[in-house]
Amino acid sequence: MSIKHATIVGAGVAGLTTALSLAAKGISSDVIEQAPQLGEVGAGLQLSPNATRVLAALGVLADVERHWLEPRSIRLASGLDLRSLADLPAGEFARRRWGSPYGVLHRSTLQQALLRAVLSAPLCKLHLGRRIDGVGADALGHVTGRRPDLVVGADGAWSVARDAISGAPAVSFSGNIAWRFTVSAAEAPSFLSRGGVTAHLGPRAHLVSYPLKEINGFNLVAIAAGARSDESWALQADAARRSMLLDQFSGWHRDIRRVLSDADSPTFWPLYQASDGQWQNGRDTVLVGDAAHAMMPFSAQGAAMAIEDAFSLAHHVSRTTLPQALAHFEAERKARAARVKARGEFNRFAYHARGPVRFARDIVLALRSPESIAADLDWLYGHKIGD
Ligand SMILES: Cc1cc2nc3c(=O)[nH]c(=O)nc-3n(C[C@H](O)[C@H](O)[C@H](O)COP(=O)(O)OP(=O)(O)OC[C@H]3O[C@@H](n4cnc5c(N)ncnc54)[C@H](O)[C@@H]3O)c2cc1C
Repeated sequence: MSIKHATIVGAGVAGLTTALSLAAKGISSDVIEQAPQLGEVGAGLQLSPNATRVLAALGVLADVERHWLEPRSIRLASGLDLRSLADLPAGEFARRRWGSPYGVLHRSTLQQALLRAVLSAPLCKLHLGRRIDGVGADALGHVTGRRPDLVVGADGAWSVARDAISGAPAVSFSGNIAWRFTVSAAEAPSFLSRGGVTAHLGPRAHLVSYPLKEINGFNLVAIAAGARSDESWALQADAARRSMLLDQFSGWHRDIRRVLSDADSPTFWPLYQASDGQWQNGRDTVLVGDAAHAMMPFSAQGAAMAIEDAFSLAHHVSRTTLPQALAHFEAERKARAARVKARGEFNRFAYHARGPVRFARDIVLALRSPESIAADLDWLYGHKIGD
């Protein structure tokens, strides 16, 4: 083993999972988080089998499963007439095919489960309410009182840890906006499926919906082109942003437009993505999660990639000395993240298709069996770290 102790900046999914993954290899860590407490950012999250496999290995999955739902299927449907276009079975099928479950849950459910595990791990120490403006030894030592062997930047899309890595990725606005809101089960229109995840597709936009057990309701995410405001997430959608939302879904089925216009307190999320770049400095600093590869949510894999990064980093640093371990980590994870991003780009093209491309898409989808759709995802959901 090359290292004994790490300092991790950020206690999101990436940071907390990194602390647990390192602890599982006998490596201690300090986790520094700017927020005074870990609250619930955002709303729902889909967790695919490639991520739940890691959570199971870290002993966190059972806690999460108590609160989540396993969708029976993941369906693509028309946003114009609500017709079903394709169905990927999930539930027991996912467990059998990919060896681990597919679940939908509130984001805070995952974060709280990870937090409980970190707080009960003797090798992990959490420092809340401490914002870091740079990852130099003095700034980190000021908080933790010690010098780490490894610094992990798990500080999200607007990472400051990137400044320590020459040629690190830069983030830019993607030209797409997500509007997120929830609807209670009592008020939910009938097109919202209680049995699974549905992506309604339409020209230049799509709407993802799924039930959340924790709130006895539904999580909805509408994604469309839009203009950015600040470098921030989770802004309240004012009147102008609401009317932008309805403009983007004009021509959609009336039930969908109604749910969008009635949405209670939607939040407005400009979507940012990271460019290619260096993820490590060749010595002792490395990026994980959105800090390394913030991506569009078109394949619902950002948190899953953060979870995979964490487990992979611990795997490499426990096997070999540091500079080499970081190089191996970067090579392996960049290839994986690039493939997932490319899949997301393909989904963006297919989901938002218009005119003849949309007709062709619908015909191709109608011809595909659930088995062939599942086979197409084996590389993604069946992935095992350390194989
Ligand atoms: C609309 C939408 C839907 C999504 N749906 C899914 C989905 O269904 N499935 C999925 O897998 N992914 C999904 N994602 C992606 C996923 O949410 C992110 O990829 C994931 O949360 C990234 O985790 P992270 O820990 O890398 O970053 P973050 O969650 O951003 O965590 C970074 C942490 O670092 C802290 N921090 C930042 N700067 C500092 C500093 N200077 N000092 C100290 N602390 C700092 C922050 O406070 C924060 O706690 C979605 C994203 C969006 C926008």
